[in-house]
Amino acid sequence: MAIEPKKNIMPTQDPKERACNFHEVALGYDLETAQREAQRCLNCKNKPCIEGCPVNIDIPGFIDLIKNGDIEGAYKHISLSSSLPAVCGRVCPQENQCEKLCTLGKKFEPVAIGRLERFAADFHNNSCTSEITPPEKNGHKVAIVGAGPSGLTCAGDLAKKGYDVTVFEALHTPGGVLVYGIPEFRLPKSIVAKEVETLRALGVDIQTNVVIGKTLTVDELFDEGYEAVFIGSGAGLPNFMGIPGESLNGVY
Ligand code: SF4
Repeated sequence: MAIEPKKNIMPTQDPKERACNFHEVALGYDLETAQREAQRCLNCKNKPCIEGCPVNIDIPGFIDLIKNGDIEGAYKHISLSSSLPAVCGRVCPQENQCEKLCTLGKKFEPVAIGRLERFAADFHNNSCTSEITPPEKNGHKVAIVGAGPSGLTCAGDLAKKGYDVTVFEALHTPGGVLVYGIPEFRLPKSIVAKEVETLRALGVDIQTNVVIGKTLTVDELFDEGYEAVFIGSGAGLPNFMGIPGESLNGVY
């Protein structure tokens, strides 16, 4: 079967409609389109796309599962390497990462890896009803400062290995830049909330309104039995350079 030279188009809201609301613009693939896109993957022997992925997801592996109709299996396969697939499928710059190295991209458009990741994650989030069984605890406690993408990813990876993880977030909602830095039409807050819910189901304790350094110090965390502290506090405050005009034009 000849390979389709272009990525399958992902439907979007009609411009006239989207000008009147703040809902997500991109609507995602349906099953048929996702499977058609999955057919474009060459399942390359050297798998260069994996090298382009910061968390080394087995990309041809999960695409093959989509091709064969095992979408929940594809989600589980992605989850072995990524704790935020519905987020990454939407906002990762795939064009400069996995898709940039995709072999198909040498001749045609690369495989729409991001759209397929998003499809698998949304399929799971919208249809999976089975409860997550938290992994067996290994007896070690880790504190994570900051519930942004870095802290949440670290929390997910450690929880899957059995660590007792507590995330301390200074603000009242977990998500960090994912909720206050990316607009709703690009990454809906409900998508981030769902990923956070999955982490909680894995056994991650997320405590909001706790400012580490003020409410609790790092030394106090160690005194409370945490054996390691991961600091993913982000860059929430601007660093002014003290030059004339820097606060003009509504930048800050
Ligand atoms: S490089 Fe592209 S075509 Fe090759 S396995 Fe990865 S996604 Fe498929």
